[in-house]
Amino acid sequence: MLTGLRLVSEAADLAARRHSGMQRKGRGNEPYINHLAEVANLLAIATEGADAELVAAGWLHDTIEDTPTTQQELAEKFGQRVAALVVEVTDDMTLPKGQRRQRQIADAPHKSPGAKLIKIADKISNIRARILPRPTQDERDDLCDYVAFAEKVVAGCFGVNAMLDRTFEETVKLARSTL
Ligand code: ZN
Repeated sequence: MLTGLRLVSEAADLAARRHSGMQRKGRGNEPYINHLAEVANLLAIATEGADAELVAAGWLHDTIEDTPTTQQELAEKFGQRVAALVVEVTDDMTLPKGQRRQRQIADAPHKSPGAKLIKIADKISNIRARILPRPTQDERDDLCDYVAFAEKVVAGCFGVNAMLDRTFEETVKLARSTL
């Protein structure tokens, strides 16, 4: 089984290939991999590099939701814990957006500590991408709506890692200051 830097490096490589050609929402149509790199890096910083499996899961967190990747494939390549973490943060894409959001809010407090950290890092990255230099009214509305949703999800994820909790609060504050 892969461990340490090899595990993280293989996860980044697979994520880059699977999300190839995808763009993220918000700021300047950045490649999707920028979001994955940001989430993985937030997790590495918050845990001071001590949890390679968590950082690997950060790279891979959207592969099951957005690309043809299965839990079994991730388990074979990266181990059960990484695969289970990705499954925990995967939305049921057969549900409409409103229901997916409700489910994220309701499920957050019951997630494992690692999944809670991925959720917070994901929301930090998604808010940052919506903070734009000269937002239109639609962009302001979208940021306002997303921040309110993210706060409800993250309310159920606080208390695992003080640094990540603080980074989320600071990101929300920054976002609100632009509205
Ligand atoms: Zn994500």
